[in-house]
Amino acid sequence: MSEHLDCVIIGAGFSGLAMLAHLREAGLQCVVVDRQDGVGGTWRANRYPGVRTDSDYPIYSFSFSPEVRDEWRWTQRYAPGAEVLAYLEFVTDRLDLRRDMRFGMDLQRAEFRDGTWHLTFADGSIVSCRYLISCMGILDQPIWPNVPGLDTFEGILLHSMQWPSEGVDLRGKRVGLIGLGSSGLQILPAIAPECAEVYVFQRQPNYVVDSTFFPVSDEEMELTRRDYDRIWERAKAHPFGVDMVVPDHGAMDVDDDERRRIFESKWQEGGHHFANETFHDLATDPAASEAASDFIRSKIREIVTDPVTAALLCPTDYSFNGKRVPTGHRYYETYNRPNVHLVDVKSVPIARVTRDSIVIGDSAYPLDVLICATGFDAMTGPLTRIDIVGRHGVTLREKWADGIRTNLGISVHGFPNFFMSIGPQTPYSNLPVPIQLGAQWVTRAIQFADQHGIQLEATPESEEWWAAEVDAAGRKTVMYEEGLKAKAWFFGANVPGKPRELLVYMGGGQKYQELCRAAEADGYRSFRA
Ligand code: NAP
Repeated sequence: MSEHLDCVIIGAGFSGLAMLAHLREAGLQCVVVDRQDGVGGTWRANRYPGVRTDSDYPIYSFSFSPEVRDEWRWTQRYAPGAEVLAYLEFVTDRLDLRRDMRFGMDLQRAEFRDGTWHLTFADGSIVSCRYLISCMGILDQPIWPNVPGLDTFEGILLHSMQWPSEGVDLRGKRVGLIGLGSSGLQILPAIAPECAEVYVFQRQPNYVVDSTFFPVSDEEMELTRRDYDRIWERAKAHPFGVDMVVPDHGAMDVDDDERRRIFESKWQEGGHHFANETFHDLATDPAASEAASDFIRSKIREIVTDPVTAALLCPTDYSFNGKRVPTGHRYYETYNRPNVHLVDVKSVPIARVTRDSIVIGDSAYPLDVLICATGFDAMTGPLTRIDIVGRHGVTLREKWADGIRTNLGISVHGFPNFFMSIGPQTPYSNLPVPIQLGAQWVTRAIQFADQHGIQLEATPESEEWWAAEVDAAGRKTVMYEEGLKAKAWFFGANVPGKPRELLVYMGGGQKYQELCRAAEADGYRSFRA
């Protein structure tokens, strides 16, 4: 393949679909390329048992297409991964996007020369375009645990992100699980009933807000469809991009009994409800965050029958919001099963993996299967793994070696006509909201550039301004101190050797959208280097 296009969009997940739909509507000739064999992005890659959203279905979908809104039927509040993937397939077909999509296209290099982006793919294809748009998501680079001997394991070795699409038969197997972030804690309850034994190797416990399953009735679906514009507006106005109203009281404004009653009232509803609908300051006041931590620790002790296991599951090194808050589904209850064994690998770390076991101190745990739910090189990883070369011959990897610089997480100085959907330094949020709004913003920006015959590229001043804003906004939240303690991915602290810096904007999605609108109203001056 060798051709010239207006726009190439890298990635066929939520971002790529929204971007293609909007740019095509604006009359641009676009192609989406993806290294996987179909649409879905993260939802095609992550097919591990138990995978599901932790955002309610109305806000984990697009608002821009009336056809999709009216015709798609969600079945559960927190949709299983297969259902989200089916939704994205549905969007693709309903909006006739597939004709402009190419799969199995692994981008190796993108270089800006003579006013054009030149792309080279692993299969030798060459494509050129005027606009290059990254829609690669934030988590496409898996990381494996840095444990000696991992490659000598002769059983089945799996990463949560690379689960075989045909599934894995775990019946009667001895399974080890490393990693208890959002992925691992979804996997555990899903696999435990079929495994002979599950050994959970825990380094740091997480604050898991457990939720019951909520099926979506026909009546509720109909109400959601009817109210959708209002739901979307509320999500746009919320700092975290969710359809929730920020409470007017702080956790310390009420007495202990009332605080507990309010926490309890949201405990069954999932992480975002607990984090956003109980008190307004769980992300900003350390005392409020600690109160939430205390409440969750008390729930753990209430649910988990073995006191030693319960104590190990209670985080003590960082407080609530130090990591992205996950939603579990009978996570803590699973530790009451006789075949589930929690192994502390913080006080005595994993020594090595052998061909058939994990060794910790003097004990060897024999395993048939080892699952690593050990996370990602988040935000920057998808962009720095490819040679994206700007007009000075510098790669993004090199440009960001001493610190991330972008204007609003959208554009980078030295990389003309290159845009990022949910790039580094964009909001810490439920993602479909900034994804859709971002696609609309980029489409208008490209129309403006074409009308005025200019190229768009962040100014150096805008990059310094935005880096300072991202840092200042982060420091006002408990995510800053607690995230560093928890070695959270949003600091890059989970990747050995990665510089510690905030990878996301913590100032709120609504504030961020305001800033994007202001840049647009200003004739994109901060994007006209
Ligand atoms: P993660 O949150 O980065 O968690 C990785 C886990 O692996 C942590 O528990 C970490 O322990 C552990 N780990 C890493 N190396 C280890 C080692 N050598 N020994 C022992 N433990 C080790 O990754 P994730 O669970 O894949 O989630 C990443 C993000 O993906 C989430 O925050 C969320 O944004 C997204 N996600 C969302 C959903 C959803 O919406 N439903 C589902 C899955 C993922 P330490 O804490 O000790 O470092």
